[in-house]
Amino acid sequence: MTIKGEATVVKHTGSHYLLAQLPQWNLFPAVLRGKIRLKGSNATNPVAVGDKVAFEAEVSEGVAAADVAANVTSENPAVITSVSPRRNYIIRKSTNLSRQSHIIASNLDRAFIIATIDFPEIKLPFLDRILVTCEVYNVPVTIVLNKVDLYRESHKEMLEAFHEIYEGAGYSVMEVSALTGEGVAELREACKDHVSLFSGVSGVGKSSLIKALDPSLDPRVGEISEAHVQGKHTTTFYEMYSLDSGGFIVDTPGLRGFGLVDLKKEEIALYFPEMHKASEGCRFAPCTHTHEPGCAVKEAVENGEISYERYSSYLGMLDEEGKYR
Ligand code: GDP
Ligand code: ZN
Repeated sequence: MTIKGEATVVKHTGSHYLLAQLPQWNLFPAVLRGKIRLKGSNATNPVAVGDKVAFEAEVSEGVAAADVAANVTSENPAVITSVSPRRNYIIRKSTNLSRQSHIIASNLDRAFIIATIDFPEIKLPFLDRILVTCEVYNVPVTIVLNKVDLYRESHKEMLEAFHEIYEGAGYSVMEVSALTGEGVAELREACKDHVSLFSGVSGVGKSSLIKALDPSLDPRVGEISEAHVQGKHTTTFYEMYSLDSGGFIVDTPGLRGFGLVDLKKEEIALYFPEMHKASEGCRFAPCTHTHEPGCAVKEAVENGEISYERYSSYLGMLDEEGKYR
């Protein structure tokens, strides 16, 4: 007997997928039927972690769709028949000339960008580039400052300035420590009932933080196998994890190629929310907010309503525009 249902892709390895009927974590294997191609997509993976899919499964008589997991095995996997339109997604572009992109994850409720003021020292233009990427792909962001135990006292002013810059731009900023556990309960709460992306440059303590959220998870294991896979020049795979306190996270080991987006010069400011807002007052449209007279963005920078750091990242991106196209 054939049953039909809907589920979410939680893992992708080669031609095999793992599905779950979220919020249940009832994992079961699936394969693609023929070739599913999304219109206008040049992604190397037609189906990504986070995708909502329709599936069919062959089960014995009398099995309900809700009990599919117990009745589907890797010898008799479910078949993915279609992919629902994505609410949003984050892609990784290859830095070479192939122009190919890989969808890291889709249908994300939020991205948590893990960063540190120091150890390692934060690079604001790099953070701003990631924030722009999230804006482009319509994923709400929370910035998580980890390791506050190390620099809250020694970098007091920088920490205050950071809050001012990013909260001023409209982002929420959390302070946590995977080591002392400070702020971890709040982060756990923020992850509840959602699918969240965890991202951050290596060394900021992303793995430690995921482990602090749920000790049964060990993202390092995945990282090792990713390095192995990359060495063989095959695709990088991502995986969703279930937090025992509720909610689901997608870890993104490494950030190479994340933060590269094709934007036209006049589009970049649209993705700096505070500049986009201020630009309504610019005399010219479009305005690059550089040399034009009557520019409301420049005015807002001069009177301190828009931070100089953010504006400077913006100018940097204008300069680099074209580099990745
Ligand atoms: P990842 O590369 O982002 O996954 O970082 P790891 O989780 O491997 O952490 C990098 C280093 O920072 C390790 O030595 C951790 O023990 C340390 N670390 C992680 N979180 C904290 C924290 O909140 N406070 C302190 N002091 N050290 C931390
Ligand atoms: Zn302007």
